[in-house]
Amino acid sequence: MICENLKEVEAKIEAACKRAGRDRSEVTLIAVSKTKPVEMLEEAYGIGIREFGENKVQEMMDKYEVMPKDIHWHMIGHLQRNKVKYLMGKAALIHSVDSLRLAEEISAQSVKHEVTTDILIEVNIAGEETKFGTDREEAIALVEAAAKLPNIHICGLMTIAPFVENSEDNRKYFQQIRQLSVDIKEKNIDNVDMRILSMGMTGDYEVAIEEGATMVRVGTGIFGARNYNI
Ligand SMILES: *Cc1c(COP(=O)(O)O)cnc(C)c1O
Repeated sequence: MICENLKEVEAKIEAACKRAGRDRSEVTLIAVSKTKPVEMLEEAYGIGIREFGENKVQEMMDKYEVMPKDIHWHMIGHLQRNKVKYLMGKAALIHSVDSLRLAEEISAQSVKHEVTTDILIEVNIAGEETKFGTDREEAIALVEAAAKLPNIHICGLMTIAPFVENSEDNRKYFQQIRQLSVDIKEKNIDNVDMRILSMGMTGDYEVAIEEGATMVRVGTGIFGARNYNI
C-alpha cells in the first residue's frame, strides 16, 4: 500500500513541479509518520524515504532509536521548551519555532550539546485561533531576534494552512507566506537564509508546490488515515 501511495504522491509532485516550471529536486518530500508503527516506517525506508516527520518528541525518540541512522528527522509539532534537550543532534530540522523563548531554549541546548540546530519559524498565515504560530509582523520580529542567538540557524518558514475541502482556497495563503519569506530575505539578516518553505500537506501539497514550497509534509497520502483511538 505504501509503495502504491508513494508512487502516486511522487507523480503528483512531479506534475506540480512541471506546471510551475520547477525542478523536482527543489522539493523535498517529508513522510509524516506520526502515530504509525515502526513497520510502516521501515517499509517506506525500504522504498527510499529518508525524510520523516513526527509531531511528538517521545515518539520521534522511540523511532529514532530503532530506525537506521541515515534518516533525517523533522520535528513538525508544537514543541514544549522542557523537551527541546531530547532533540539535540537528532532532529535535522525543527519546523515549529513560534516564540523567542523557544528559540532561546533551542539555542541554549545547542550550545550545551555543541551542535548547531536548523530551525524554521512557524507562521499562522491564516490567523486561525486553533493553531500555533506567529503572525506576519511577529514572524519578522522573531526572525530578527532569533538570528542573534548562537548555535541556531534560521533556514526559512513553515505554515499549516487551514483544513479546506478545496485546496485552491489555500493558494492565497501559500502566496502570502512565500511573499513574507521574500520580504525577510531582502532584509539580509545575518544568520538567516530563507531557502526553505515548509508548506503543503496531503490535501494541498500540489498547490503549495505551485506556489513555491520546498518541503511538503505528507502523512495520510503515504501511510493512510490515522487512528488516534488505539
Ligand atoms: C500531521 C501533520 C502533517 C501531515 O498531515 P496529512 O494531512 O496527513 O498529510 C503535516 N504537517 C503537520 C505539522 C502535521 O502535524
